[in-house]
Amino acid sequence: MAQIVIIGGGASGLVAAIMAGRNEAGVTVLERMQRVGKKLLATGNGRCNLANRHLDVSHYHGTHPEFIEGIFAQFGLEKTLAFFESLGVDIQEEDEGRLFPSSGQASSVLDVLRYEMEQLGAAEVCDTIVQSIQCAHGALRCVCGNGHVYEADRVIVCAGGKSTPNLGSNGGGFKLAQGLGHTIIEPFPALVQVCLDAPYLNQIAGVAIQGKAEVLVDGESRGTEIGELLFAKYGISGSAILKLSRQVSEYTVKGRDTHLRLDLFPAISQGALYEQIRQRIMTNSQKPTNFCFVGCIHKRLIPILLREACISNPARPCGDLSSGEIEQIATAMKGWTIPCSGTQSWMFSQVTAGGVDIREVDSVTLESKRAPGVYFAGEVLDIDGDSGGYNLQWAWASGAVAGLHASTC
Ligand SMILES: Cc1cc2nc3c(=O)[nH]c(=O)nc-3n(C[C@H](O)[C@H](O)[C@H](O)COP(=O)(O)OP(=O)(O)OC[C@H]3O[C@@H](n4cnc5c(N)ncnc54)[C@H](O)[C@@H]3O)c2cc1C
Repeated sequence: MAQIVIIGGGASGLVAAIMAGRNEAGVTVLERMQRVGKKLLATGNGRCNLANRHLDVSHYHGTHPEFIEGIFAQFGLEKTLAFFESLGVDIQEEDEGRLFPSSGQASSVLDVLRYEMEQLGAAEVCDTIVQSIQCAHGALRCVCGNGHVYEADRVIVCAGGKSTPNLGSNGGGFKLAQGLGHTIIEPFPALVQVCLDAPYLNQIAGVAIQGKAEVLVDGESRGTEIGELLFAKYGISGSAILKLSRQVSEYTVKGRDTHLRLDLFPAISQGALYEQIRQRIMTNSQKPTNFCFVGCIHKRLIPILLREACISNPARPCGDLSSGEIEQIATAMKGWTIPCSGTQSWMFSQVTAGGVDIREVDSVTLESKRAPGVYFAGEVLDIDGDSGGYNLQWAWASGAVAGLHASTC
């Protein structure tokens, strides 16, 4: 019976353990936290958005995102759903193809994974940090911080990235890979709040609106999203921003000139907005300029937008505004452009972009090309997905494929 050690009891590690166990391997999962699956419990706000109906390569990023195709060809959406059904998890679909357990509980997903592992006789060893993997004379040794050494025929590294280190993944997997001679594509946080460089953030912290956000890098558009925009003291978050945060993170880390352009009225053209403002001003001509937009946009945004529009003396009657000034207000409302200074730290990011260079990993088996017998799965690899269930989908699929191949050869 092949002995397999899995480093990391997160989403990918638990599925790797089950697939290897079902293939009759002896399995030991080594986990640095007091218990396995801590991050899994936090996913989808405790509801676990475990996959997405619209699975395809366009939702994945990294230096070579097409790498995922070989893995999903072996363990795609249908197999993922069948796998969870075999464990007793009913799935329900929500907006944008997002798939959740019908129980609405991430804990139920963790429970059934652990139950299956137990049935298969896979061992969980917690409070155990693997510090290095040694390869000598065909045998593999996982050397742990507590002095224990676990020997194995094959090792699967499922140690995650650097995001939310309080939930377990602290970049330790990258160090293990480097120790084996692997290259690490410089990691940066993704699915994370964006920090803005603007003097008025304290005034608008807590304001939530719907709108369109666009990332501009050196003046060129790098992506747009429509959805919630939520201002904070440090900058901005909300669903639209989380989706764009990868681009902001990547380019601010590189020191590139990065801005967010916000459109508060994405459903209408600038001309139509100009006309709407003009009508509003005609019927409210005696109202102060800084009051005439109350009821049309969030009150706390009005002074900021009038300043962005360079409207002098905003207490004067709005009927005094020139057509040029109305145009400036329409431009500010549809093209409010704010410099980005970076993103919030690893502690707040849901996903790590970057990781083990996938050119050094077999695209069918996920075995290391540097260290035979060692496999990689999950976020430790240079693959990250959009929000919406794509990251867990990658973790399950890569874990299953690595578990299967590690226990077959
Ligand atoms: C708050 C939050 C919400 C999220 N929600 C979703 C969602 O709804 N849908 C979705 O698709 N994705 C979501 N994600 C992302 C998703 O959780 C991850 O992409 C996924 O868990 C990665 O799985 P993994 O197995 O690669 O790594 P992890 O789940 O991070 O597991 C890695 C494990 O390895 C252990 N470990 C690390 N180093 C060592 C070591 N040296 N020795 C021993 N053990 C070690 C860690 O303690 C950890 O348990 C969310 C992430 C966060 C933070």
